[in-house]
Amino acid sequence: MKQCGRAAVVMRLGLDLCVPHRCQCGSDVDAQGRHAMVCKKASGKIARHQVLNDVIWRALNAAGIPATNEPSGINSRDGKRPDGLTLIPRQGGKPLVWDVTVASTLAASYADTAATGMGLVADQPATRKSAKYVDFTAAYIFQPIAVENLGPINASALDFISNLGQKISYTFPATTERLSSYSSASL
Ligand SMILES: [Zn+2]
Repeated sequence: MKQCGRAAVVMRLGLDLCVPHRCQCGSDVDAQGRHAMVCKKASGKIARHQVLNDVIWRALNAAGIPATNEPSGINSRDGKRPDGLTLIPRQGGKPLVWDVTVASTLAASYADTAATGMGLVADQPATRKSAKYVDFTAAYIFQPIAVENLGPINASALDFISNLGQKISYTFPATTERLSSYSSASL
């Protein structure tokens, strides 16, 4: 955990993280270690995705919306499968499916977008996800959830998560009040 915290701070500050070397995937890793956030062979890639997906699933259930992770039986013709499904309809009689992705704010491919404004990197994979699942929209509401590794979330997911937060506060008002008091006291 100490190493994770150190790496997070060093990357956030743009300092040197490691000795430049060749990754097992064949790509060069620079001193800032940014390749680790985009490497397809990095073990943390799958873990990050699973943790985020689990957070969404737990938030839905906490808000009183039963949902399931990795739903089977709703694959599209080309084998696409979303990360989660609500077990009751949300809007217009349609259940909601979501798909989570993590984008690296520091990736070279996003450098121009990242320099334009905060949170714009996350909108790009979210748009790609919406296109990927466009054939689901006849029967489901599709919600892309794209999270940048430096924090920002795509605009529609931010609305979705804020809405869930409100529902949870209605379900557990006392808990929310206690957390709010604790937060104020901490400050
Ligand atoms: Zn690699």
